[in-house]
Amino acid sequence: MRRIYFDHAATTPMLPAVIDAMSEQMRSTFGNPSSIHHFGRIAKNEIESARKQVAQLLGASIGEIFFTSGGTEANNMALQCAVRDLGIKRIISSPLEHHCVLHTLDHLHKVRNIELQHIKLDEHGAPDLDELRCLLDQGAEDTLVSLMHANNETGLMIDLEEVGTVCREFDVYFHSDTVQTIGHHKFNLEEAPVDFISGSSHKFHGPKGIGFIYIRSGIGLAPLLHGGAQERNMRAGTENIGGIMGTAVALECIHDKWEHRKKQVGEVRTYAKSQIKALHPACSFNGHPGQHQLNSILSINFPASPATELLTFRLDIEGICASGGSACASGTENASHVISALMPNYDGVTIRFSFSDQNTIDEVDHLIDVFSKILPSS
Ligand code: PLP
Repeated sequence: MRRIYFDHAATTPMLPAVIDAMSEQMRSTFGNPSSIHHFGRIAKNEIESARKQVAQLLGASIGEIFFTSGGTEANNMALQCAVRDLGIKRIISSPLEHHCVLHTLDHLHKVRNIELQHIKLDEHGAPDLDELRCLLDQGAEDTLVSLMHANNETGLMIDLEEVGTVCREFDVYFHSDTVQTIGHHKFNLEEAPVDFISGSSHKFHGPKGIGFIYIRSGIGLAPLLHGGAQERNMRAGTENIGGIMGTAVALECIHDKWEHRKKQVGEVRTYAKSQIKALHPACSFNGHPGQHQLNSILSINFPASPATELLTFRLDIEGICASGGSACASGTENASHVISALMPNYDGVTIRFSFSDQNTIDEVDHLIDVFSKILPSS
């Protein structure tokens, strides 16, 4: 049976070059990077050259990149350490953040008594920057702003530059969950007005269980995990050398084929959007209708009907892999907190298709054939 993968915001297949580099690394380098002998030094060098590569590709300096177990840890580290070490007492964020941010903020509210404020959003989910200014005007002391770069369910993007400029104006810290945009957006962190960002390698064709945090140089954070001097004393635990190498190779491959990837993903999304709309004029799209949209994500609402019930499962039976919301909740048809916040009374079904340059127009044609079969046109 033909299977088509349209769930790249959940995770991506590793690139062959990543698998090759990691296999070679696992065969040849087994040393502990903390050992001072030959094998340890080789392992350490591999980590440091991967760090250099990642830093260069993001326009950061080497000392600003710390490898973590992924995006969840990176976001936890930014938020928890900022509260503990920078005296943050108030965090301005949005209800549309990923659970690894939302739940960390709830925890910080309960345990550390941090004041949480949710910024007003427009109908697409974009934060209202006038309101952000107002909130900061009322007091900017000991404040951190945390707003995700691109929403993992709708693909709506904020303008990092614009939000960061407001944060700089009021001299507050700015954290952005960039898990969905690393590999899709070109960063120059030396110039970008952001203090902390997070990356997750499996979202850009790298391995799972590895990612990184960027901490702007000069910001004095202590580690979240204790018990070892790894990552220049910032993250205890023997390093995942293969994962770290795989991260650097994945990011490099993506940057090498940047224009091709962008064009292919954009064409597939535009085509899918127009074909689905033509087939089901009653459907609507989430995210930003204009430029502030990640072109790898297409989130569609279908009005409630017997045919749309369990739609993700029915697509799966037909060989189409898509998601009903956030990847972390996939496997269940639970209501998404993002869609519920955007459309509180909506009783339809939302499906997220997310693309990579491995997807083709022919695959979209197959999706349309499947849709014609399982959904009556409306
Ligand atoms: N942040 C966003 C926006 C995500 O989409 C995800 C994963 O779905 C994460 C954070 C968590 O990343 P990881 O899987 O590396 O822990």
